[in-house]
Amino acid sequence: MSNDLSIRDLSVAYGPVMALHGVSFDVPEGRIAALVGSNGAGKSTVLKAICGMVAPASGTISVGGTAIPARPGAALRQGVALSPEGRRLFGRLSVEENLRMGAYAVPRAELDPGVMERVYGYFPRLRERRRQMAGSLSGGEQQMCAIGRALMAQPRVLLLDEPSLGIAPIIVAELGRIIAEISRDLGMTVLLVEQNAQMALSLAATGVVLETGRVVLTGTGEELLQSPEVRAAYLGY
Ligand code: ATP
Repeated sequence: MSNDLSIRDLSVAYGPVMALHGVSFDVPEGRIAALVGSNGAGKSTVLKAICGMVAPASGTISVGGTAIPARPGAALRQGVALSPEGRRLFGRLSVEENLRMGAYAVPRAELDPGVMERVYGYFPRLRERRRQMAGSLSGGEQQMCAIGRALMAQPRVLLLDEPSLGIAPIIVAELGRIIAEISRDLGMTVLLVEQNAQMALSLAATGVVLETGRVVLTGTGEELLQSPEVRAAYLGY
């Protein structure tokens, strides 16, 4: 059973507004793909479609060759976990309680008791703050908690929605290193959705550029970082 994520010909409409027009790309097993584009390009809509939060007008999404039905919860059952934009933590619960919530869908028999320790291994700040209310963490720590919560589901595929949003550059760099480490150690397939193209493309094996709901460029992360179009539009140099 491979853990490739494959998006084929995905179109999504919000009423009369087409948000995605025939989007296709693949994230090979164990690799990081960056999906970049400006505000409103359709990046979050791709994630919502994968997670069954919007019903596609057409197209298929599959993991390891098995299509994910367009229903909430279906992706998680097939091993796809999302760390959402804006983090959506339970602010009045502790860090550890938030992490535990991430494992609620994992059948008890399959729950690996070492998962929380591994999460703390990647994010030592979360271990130090495990009894602190999530709402009182810094923005960067909340982001770590959201990624940790997604990892608690022991996913085959990890979806990260704008982890760098509103976070200090030094923490963005730290998060980037940790995301690369997680993908490498656990062989996890990662789809990283980012407005911060520099951060995302420098981590990614594959980059996909979305503009007004269409894929306009694909390449290795390195190729896209060097591309004059990407530089002018997304990197500002
Ligand atoms: P951002 O980085 O700002 O989140 P994005 O690339 O994730 O942008 P989407 O949020 O996927 O973009 O939006 C794509 C398009 O779909 C935009 O034109 C947006 O206005 C529209 N859209 C998104 N959500 C809805 C909705 N619930 N109802 C109507 N239109 C929507």
